Amino acid sequence: MVGIASPQRPGELCITDPSLIAAPGAPVAPKINLPIRDGRVERIDQQPAAPEAEILDAGGRVVTAGFWNCHVHLTEPVWSRAASAEAPVLQHHLDDMFSSRGFTGAMDLGSNPRTTAAVISRIASGELNGPQLLTAGAGIYPPRGLPFYVQIPWHLRPLMPQPRTPAAARRAVNRSQRRGAAVAKLSTGSYLAPDPEQVVPMPLPVARAATEQAHRQGRPVFAHTSNREGLRGAVEAGVDVIAHVPDTPAGTEPLLREAARRGMRMIPTLDMFFQTVGTHPEYRDPIFQALAVFREAGGQLLFGTDVGYLPDRRTQGELTALETSGVDATEALAMLTTAPAELAQAGTGTVEPAAAADLVVLDHRELTSPRQLADVFATVAAGKLIWTQDRAAA
Ligand SMILES: [Zn+2]
Repeated sequence: MVGIASPQRPGELCITDPSLIAAPGAPVAPKINLPIRDGRVERIDQQPAAPEAEILDAGGRVVTAGFWNCHVHLTEPVWSRAASAEAPVLQHHLDDMFSSRGFTGAMDLGSNPRTTAAVISRIASGELNGPQLLTAGAGIYPPRGLPFYVQIPWHLRPLMPQPRTPAAARRAVNRSQRRGAAVAKLSTGSYLAPDPEQVVPMPLPVARAATEQAHRQGRPVFAHTSNREGLRGAVEAGVDVIAHVPDTPAGTEPLLREAARRGMRMIPTLDMFFQTVGTHPEYRDPIFQALAVFREAGGQLLFGTDVGYLPDRRTQGELTALETSGVDATEALAMLTTAPAELAQAGTGTVEPAAAADLVVLDHRELTSPRQLADVFATVAAGKLIWTQDRAAA
């Protein structure tokens, strides 16, 4: 699967014959054209395409706003060489991880700030095609609380902040901002071993100081909570996003309702749990139940897969698990578009005149189930056609 940098200049693309779903739940608008100029949607109407425009014939396929993956990690070995690797190598991985899945935005919730900065700058320069990447940098952990699955050499471990005091937490937040972090990630409940009894909580004054400092800098805060103590710390600290549904959810129901009431969002990452731990009902059903409690209390979800930690880069598994949990196509589309755009303050996540032309063409002529959102035909980022099924097959 190799995407090819499009020769088209911004302003010279027209998507013809889309079945446009401009926003989650909006009726399908057929028989229109979507001309794109200067990286933005120029019009939505029935005027013919300009003669000089490159045509992307959607052939009646569904077109929506570009997707966000709100939980990724640029930690696979290929990214550690991001500053020096040949562009085609990185392009292959960017296409496989993001563009071929419809992602025009992604939130990296923990990676080496130096190598991730190289990926971000090579995309920004136009050398590589890829999503808008917002990173949390290295993340912040409880004292003696590095999770067991963080596979980094011991001599690099001091780079992963484990503040003991509010002042140290603020310094860690400031350091991550200087290194380019646009979001913050706290491990308020850290697994020392793959054992629910071995979760170390972050001290509440530390979590609160880190959250307040990140908010002063205008950065949303994500928390890995794991269990009841970790979730309590996240809720009391006032974080914005729960990075996974708690997978040791005993006793979390009142806290999940409180989190929803406070407007906190949640990234379920169901398929990550099922692929890495298992699908035995004794493990799986309480996770589904915790998710249901949060949704029934009005909690808003964000889409994320934990790709990078999870080797599987596909989105089918997560979308299928969400469907099993009762999420319909409209809610899934909101998780992928409008909800993350609001969190990231990156436009509206809808398709409208003058909006940024971040678009996905699905390989379906209607949208009736979340699973269909995994079948991408083409991806347009900032007005540029960055991936199509046709070119990938060529
Ligand atoms: Zn993760």
